Amino acid sequence: MKKILILHTGGTISMYEDKRSGEVKPSGTNPLLESAQAAGHLADLIVEEPFQLPSPHITPREMLMLKERIEHHLEKNGIDGAVITHGTDTLEETAYFLDLTVDTDIPIVVTGAMRSSNEIGSDGLYNFIAAVRTAVHDEARDKGVLVVLNDEIHSAKNVTKTHTSNVSTFQSPQYGPIGIITKKAILFHHQPIGRKKIPVNALSKRVELLKAYAGMDASLFFSLGEMKIDGLVIEALGQGNLPPQVLPGIRKLLEEGIPIVLVSRCFNGTVEDVYQYEGGGAQLKRMGIIFSNGLNGQKARIQLMLALERTKDPEKIKEFFQ
Ligand code: ASP
Repeated sequence: MKKILILHTGGTISMYEDKRSGEVKPSGTNPLLESAQAAGHLADLIVEEPFQLPSPHITPREMLMLKERIEHHLEKNGIDGAVITHGTDTLEETAYFLDLTVDTDIPIVVTGAMRSSNEIGSDGLYNFIAAVRTAVHDEARDKGVLVVLNDEIHSAKNVTKTHTSNVSTFQSPQYGPIGIITKKAILFHHQPIGRKKIPVNALSKRVELLKAYAGMDASLFFSLGEMKIDGLVIEALGQGNLPPQVLPGIRKLLEEGIPIVLVSRCFNGTVEDVYQYEGGGAQLKRMGIIFSNGLNGQKARIQLMLALERTKDPEKIKEFFQ
């Protein structure tokens, strides 16, 4: 049997619904610790619970801890795969962080649930079993970090949480899942290409994320200048344009050597230097703003944090986003 590391980290998948109030909360004991036996016939499991947090409480510190646990077991126990259970709110950030930083071709599968463990139609145990089945599958190797929920397999790079409550919340806009799960099979139909690695041992940089909107002005950018940030990601309008009133604030940050990465607030497509009017992409690119490669804002932020651990040189940072 394959040896699979299970890392439980919290989230709805580990929580209970209070039958009186209807509120969902952690209970101290993760129900998956017991139900993990349900996956015992699929693999030889090494089970750990490094922390139990709702995923809005996850920080880069916990992401690094997960990377270290996987690397430790890779080296000491020669694991064949890893499954991480995680809250869904920030799941895509942890998954993409691990995708960029863990240098291995073993399957790393992240899963979660939209309904807590004692709710009708709870999807936690089902998704957990599906994740273990995926992790032991030979074809799951060398595909980067995978996100498995609701019978679909997504790549960490493209997947995003699209719905606040529906069990089919995880989607890969524009690209779709790379595989599906049926009762009897794990069926991959795509092989992700062009995967990046940014090895780091620490995450110490402060990178902020702003979303552009009609009528935005420069005040938030000036405030960020005073906050001693190391980098900024902006979710720009459309193909990569900003209201002209923000430009003085952006110019100031760039003069101070703060790298700025542009993504789009549209969830399909990439940003390009197409428009030549004041605040248009062509002008922003000439100013020295880095155009991303189709990542969403929260993942571009993770990537910029990692890139900044390697270099401060804007030209080199640009290479990480090509
Ligand atoms: N708010 C919860 C969390 O992210 C939602 C979930 O787990 O799905 O921890």
